[in-house]
Amino acid sequence: MKPFRDQPIRRKLSVALMSTSAVVLMLAATTFIGYEYLDFRADLVRNLSTQADITAESSTALLTFGDEQTAKDTLAVLKSDSHILAAALYQSDGRLFADYRRNDRPPVQLPSSPPREGYLFTPDYLELSRSILVGNRSVGTVYLRSDLELMQARLIRYLTITTAVFMAALLVALWLSSRFQQIITQPILDLAAAAGEVALEKNYATRVESQSRDELGTLVTAFNDMLSQVQQRDAALLAENTDRQQAEAEVRQLNARLEERVLQRTAQLEASNQELLAAKLAAETSSRAKSAFLANMSHELRAPLTVIVGYSELLARSAEERGLHDFVSDLEKVRHYCRHLHSLISDVLDLTKIEADRFEVKPEPVELRTLVDELTATGTVLAKNGNNRFCASIEAGIGTIVTDARLLRQILLNLVSNACKFTKDGDVRVSVTGEYTAVVLSGVCFTITDTGLGIPEVELPRIFQAFYQVDGSATRRSGGTGLGLAIARRLSVLLGGSLDVRSVAGAGSMFCLRLPTTLPPASRTV
Ligand code: ADP
Repeated sequence: MKPFRDQPIRRKLSVALMSTSAVVLMLAATTFIGYEYLDFRADLVRNLSTQADITAESSTALLTFGDEQTAKDTLAVLKSDSHILAAALYQSDGRLFADYRRNDRPPVQLPSSPPREGYLFTPDYLELSRSILVGNRSVGTVYLRSDLELMQARLIRYLTITTAVFMAALLVALWLSSRFQQIITQPILDLAAAAGEVALEKNYATRVESQSRDELGTLVTAFNDMLSQVQQRDAALLAENTDRQQAEAEVRQLNARLEERVLQRTAQLEASNQELLAAKLAAETSSRAKSAFLANMSHELRAPLTVIVGYSELLARSAEERGLHDFVSDLEKVRHYCRHLHSLISDVLDLTKIEADRFEVKPEPVELRTLVDELTATGTVLAKNGNNRFCASIEAGIGTIVTDARLLRQILLNLVSNACKFTKDGDVRVSVTGEYTAVVLSGVCFTITDTGLGIPEVELPRIFQAFYQVDGSATRRSGGTGLGLAIARRLSVLLGGSLDVRSVAGAGSMFCLRLPTTLPPASRTV
């Protein structure tokens, strides 16, 4: 059987009401019957006392005079009371004087001596004894015994009536409780049904009808309010979900479009990459062809030029011998322009070789002190043209570096000749200093400084471009090719170093060639 707390509320209420009613009725019935029982006992004692008093009254003289027969007759009168079972008169010394016993009842055993004054209830009878007094003197005792039939009959009657009333009252209580409990249980059952529906079907539109304004009514209203709030939140969540799903769908669409575009763009890029690769290959091929052509052409051009220079020298010498001085100066001009053309062709050849990666780099130990001495000799001659002073110095302790001596000389010569070319009545200085990493010599810096024309700041980035010459200056007049610095910088890189410039227009320039002490492996392209 299920525990009481798990029973339906309807049953619980019925049990509570019925048990309360039953207890109340039982208490009432017990009180009533108890009271009646005590009252009836008192009645019985009272009646028997009256009988005893009457008997005592009529027996006083008989006891005094010892008239036993009359005493017996007097007691026999009690026969008229069907409930008196026995009676007795005792003398003052306690001896039995006269007695009476009902014939139609089982024989009664009378006490041999008179009991003490008073009464006594036994389960079957009530006995009472009373002193018979004359004045203050006791002349004997009267003893009466009565059955309890009347009282028992009355108690049975009361019990029957009480039981009937009890049952009827319980039935009425049951009927009333079933009517009243519905008022209490119906809203609770409605609430439970609604809660079950909400839990099962998630139907937050469910509402419970409020039928009262008591606590249950408040509970129903609160339940409905709660459902309204849940319904609103549910709707908001649903809307939010829908929005999110829409947004996700849009994002997915955008992603798909984006992926499509990325694929298209990738395909386009791949195609253009292919095209670029093909174009690069073609350009490289044509560049190599151009370089090869230029190299061949340069070579082919230099040979006849050398011949022209040779012949013009021969012609100049014989013109001088014959005294044709006008021819000598013309032939001198021919030689000068031929040399210029020769150096131009040599520069072009160098540049094309570098660009075609065909330049030979031969690493060898270069004694820097010797190099500086050579440079001093050449620089002093070059400086004289512009009435310049030349000096070269080397930091103590710098000995040999491994590099391509020919290319290094070419770079330095170019820088020194430029410095001399663009300086008038000034100073040209070459200094060689060491560069150290943790006290170990890691590189060398050749600094060529002059106090000449200088280069405007805007021109600085361009002077390393091939064929570039600073406009409007004496540059063009000095008859350069615009290839010297371009070749010098490329050669510097080829030797694993760098070439940089700092200059102030009108104040002079400073070129700095940095080289490592050893030619890096990548440069060894012999
Ligand atoms: P160029 O054969 O004209 O000397 P370079 O490439 O050697 O060609 O030089 C490019 C230009 O840079 C020169 O025309 C000149 O204007 C400028 N330049 C180079 N060196 C110096 C210098 N020391 N002082 C001033 N200008 C210089």
